[in-house]
Amino acid sequence: MIVMKFGGTSVESAQAIERVAGIVKARQGRRPVVVVSAMGKTTNKLLAIANAAIAGQRDEYIRQLHDLRDFHSREARLVTPLAERAVLDMVLDEHFQELTELVKGIAVIGELTPRSIDAISSYGERLSSYVVALAFNHFGLPAVHVDSRKVIVTDHRHTQAAPLYAETYRRLEETVAPLAAEKVVVMGGFIGSTEDGVTSTLGRGGSDFTASIVGAGIRAEEIQIWTDVDGMLTADPTVYPGGHRVKTISFAEAAELAYFGAKVLHPATVIPAVERDIPVLILNSRRPEVPGTRISRDTVPSKNPVKSIACKKKITLVNITSSRMFMAHGFLRRIFEVFDRHETSVDMLATSEVSVSLTVDNPARLDAVRLELEEFAEVSTEPGQAIVCLVGENIRYTPGVAAGVFGALGGINVRMVSQGASLLNLGFVVDEKDLAATVEALHSRFFAELDPAVFD
Ligand code: ADP
Ligand code: ASP
Ligand code: MG
Repeated sequence: MIVMKFGGTSVESAQAIERVAGIVKARQGRRPVVVVSAMGKTTNKLLAIANAAIAGQRDEYIRQLHDLRDFHSREARLVTPLAERAVLDMVLDEHFQELTELVKGIAVIGELTPRSIDAISSYGERLSSYVVALAFNHFGLPAVHVDSRKVIVTDHRHTQAAPLYAETYRRLEETVAPLAAEKVVVMGGFIGSTEDGVTSTLGRGGSDFTASIVGAGIRAEEIQIWTDVDGMLTADPTVYPGGHRVKTISFAEAAELAYFGAKVLHPATVIPAVERDIPVLILNSRRPEVPGTRISRDTVPSKNPVKSIACKKKITLVNITSSRMFMAHGFLRRIFEVFDRHETSVDMLATSEVSVSLTVDNPARLDAVRLELEEFAEVSTEPGQAIVCLVGENIRYTPGVAAGVFGALGGINVRMVSQGASLLNLGFVVDEKDLAATVEALHSRFFAELDPAVFD
């Protein structure tokens, strides 16, 4: 068995879904279980509808609901056999009626809880998985739809739920694995439900995570993540388009890259895969012939110390200084307690004797954090920053990587530097406006010559 996950762009239209059917058909002998994201930008649209509802913009959310229904109906009809169209219309009616009721309810209450956000955003994957299963049958690929909420069991942390592994694996083994012996199972990514049956989600980009949970649960031989790029590249192509494909990378490296912003993989994806030692492949659904990136336990020796560069934009740098706290124990604890109380997570940290610099990617509660910190320290915050993180197992064995980085950056102002305890990354912060130039300069320094065993 293998798991094949197709992201939003890979199922964005009838044409894209037809392409996916072809890709799956070519691998039918490996008994694929297919996990799909919502079609195109549906999740963003659902969240926009929810926001229009609490803002009391009735005409707006009604219009957006109609657009979303038209979009699904138009694309789905093109991949549905004539005989099934009446059923398709009925299913779409049911889903959109329910969704509309939900949205209206939120408009009345005027409050959007994490639980209701999950209820609304779940419709993307609920619809896409149903449509893709119909389409597969239409294209001669016997398929069966499984509602992921019946198998992926999570805790109650709505919008960021974590899977309850033992129960989820049990259900996957009992229901999905036997079905996959007969037909192509199609499931929605991202969604699950709590033990008491309330719909939950694994967080944005979470369909990759679903694929990996399913892969581990059914003990698949491989987990394939099909997306819109040729694999893990040496940089995010939207930041720097001149990067190269990384052919092979370790679990630890991939996890680090994902954590520091390589959106091509949800950061939790590697966890279940590592545990059951299942390789993860990143592949391009528009160019299925490209071999992509293989993420596995093996580390292929590389002449290049750096494998790839992750970056994360919209970062706020927080500088905390306190001369009174000079060498006092408990200073860091006090700082982290404040961040903890406000559920604000910290990505990167650097300390000196009297100051601490750290980065935050969600500034929603930063004002409150700052107010509390100011009871015992001076605080300054700088939005509009970016984290750049070089990742490679060889960084720790190669002298002079840091010198190489800062030599390459010339006039670019580096705000904060941190080498992770894992020793496989070197991260720093620059102003967002310098990000593209930074990544380009690092490419000239670290990827001018490429080890053909690792890079394409
Ligand atoms: P999907 O909808 O298939 O899950 P995503 O948009 O979540 O796709 O992830 C794919 C995107 O990740 C790419 O289009 C690219 O812009 C971005 N990305 C960020 N860092 C990298 C990287 N190092 N290599 C490849 N893609 C990256
Ligand atoms: N549809 C969800 C999102 O947009 C999950 C995913 O695509 O991975 O975040
Ligand atoms: Mg994604």
